[in-house]
Amino acid sequence: MASRRLLLVHAHPDDETITTGATMAFYAAHDVDVTLLTCTLGEEGEILVPELARLRANCTDQLGGYRIGELAAAMRELGVTDHRFLGGAGHFRDSGMLGSPANNHPRALWRADLERAVFAEAVAAAAEVIADVRPQVVVTYDPRGGYGHPDHVLAHRVTTAAVSAVAERWAVDKLYWTVLPESEIAAGNAELRTAVRLDPSLAARVAGILAPTGRPATPAGTSGSSG
Ligand SMILES: [Zn+2]
Repeated sequence: MASRRLLLVHAHPDDETITTGATMAFYAAHDVDVTLLTCTLGEEGEILVPELARLRANCTDQLGGYRIGELAAAMRELGVTDHRFLGGAGHFRDSGMLGSPANNHPRALWRADLERAVFAEAVAAAAEVIADVRPQVVVTYDPRGGYGHPDHVLAHRVTTAAVSAVAERWAVDKLYWTVLPESEIAAGNAELRTAVRLDPSLAARVAGILAPTGRPATPAGTSGSSG
């Protein structure tokens, strides 16, 4: 075990690379033990590759397993050898965007928001990882889960509670949130508004992302997607 250890808690496969990939690669290359804990398999993710379209949740529902392989490949690229799933692979399921039918799946991580026992189960699983890894630094999302996806919100709440729950066994020095500068968010939103002006058919998909505060709306007539 290296003297410096970093644990990152993310909601879905790909979140780690998109938001903290450079950080993970940097520390993995500088003698820091980097552990990734992913809360779900991202089963509800939007599929942009036509050849993989049949993997989607409402067809063969194979996306989660496929993303395990994608995540392993991503970790090889980043030089991270320790990657785990909360409660084991497939224990908690991608909840989809708020208001989508996936919220009600019996294994949806969002159930931890509704049932105290499920929340406690998730916290205990995260606490076990912290006790095992003994990281000085833990990284997860802010209280709004970055852009408001239910699983990102839960990742924040579960990680925060787990750091407290495990404190007598291992005291984490620092709990960091990944955040974007407001200026970058404003610039991105401006680009999206321009895109909608040029192609009004994008309006429904973009509406949730542009929701100003709180959790994004799920536009009627569109399916939720995971980020
Ligand atoms: Zn995500």
